[in-house]
Amino acid sequence: MRVLILGGTTEAVACAERIGRDPRFHVILSLAGRTRNPRQQEGIAHRVGGFGGVDGLAAYLAEAKIDAVLDATHPFAAQMSANAESATRSLGTPLCTLVRPRWVAEAGDRWIGAATIEAAADALGAEPRRVFLAVGRQGVGAFRRAEQHAYIIRAIEQPDADALPPITTLVQAQGPFALQDEIALLTSERIDVVVSKNAGGAATYAKIEAARMLSLPVIMIERPNIAGQNFVESAAEAVAWLGRLHDSSRSERSV
Ligand code: NAP
Repeated sequence: MRVLILGGTTEAVACAERIGRDPRFHVILSLAGRTRNPRQQEGIAHRVGGFGGVDGLAAYLAEAKIDAVLDATHPFAAQMSANAESATRSLGTPLCTLVRPRWVAEAGDRWIGAATIEAAADALGAEPRRVFLAVGRQGVGAFRRAEQHAYIIRAIEQPDADALPPITTLVQAQGPFALQDEIALLTSERIDVVVSKNAGGAATYAKIEAARMLSLPVIMIERPNIAGQNFVESAAEAVAWLGRLHDSSRSERSV
């Protein structure tokens, strides 16, 4: 069974590694190409770059003879998930959509919800503050509308210079991050407020725990709606779904 995994997440890599070792499957991992040097997955076939919308993806699925698609993109990658849902529906290709559980506020958390990244920028308020911004390289441009604040921006890749707000310190780093390091960073940079997407997962959760321990507010950007089919929450569930799909299609063929 030929499986396309739409990636860019820890879960996609976990699925690719597990399915890649299973002789029932041939896996192709697809990356958008946003990270110049993505972590290499040895022995796993991969492709990089957009497909060209729904039609481009449908053409790719047909040409590469893909039997099943596993959408393991990030919970904020709504466009890719919508394209995957439309393209697979038009071809009748089975789709499994993996969306990791969101973070839920605990006792001691001081979260302020924001529906969009622009709303998060507005929620910082008029008074200048020191802001830890961990929303990914592509999201920083939204904070140019709130240029009175000093931003400590952490991203894997350097954001475009013209997207940056005027008062900016850049920290280039890739998770997972440890709690003690996050506490040290928030303290040494005298951070007043953290801005985060509700990404879920363990790799970037330490900043949320650190904010709780330091009693700092977190402006938490809510997730967009994600289109999909056969929703699961973990790599293990996605792999189990593929196993069931394989077994049911084999038993159909033998009837
Ligand atoms: P997006 O807005 O949903 O997608 C924009 C376009 O990027 C898609 O229409 C598609 O182009 C291309 N694309 C996205 N994911 C792709 C993939 N896995 N393989 C091939 N093409 C892909 O996506 P995004 O939010 O920019 O995220 C881009 C990538 O970064 C995704 O792989 C995602 O998992 C990862 N990521 C995103 C975030 C985030 O906060 N958004 C955080 C961490 C990782 P075409 O229409 O040309 O096919």
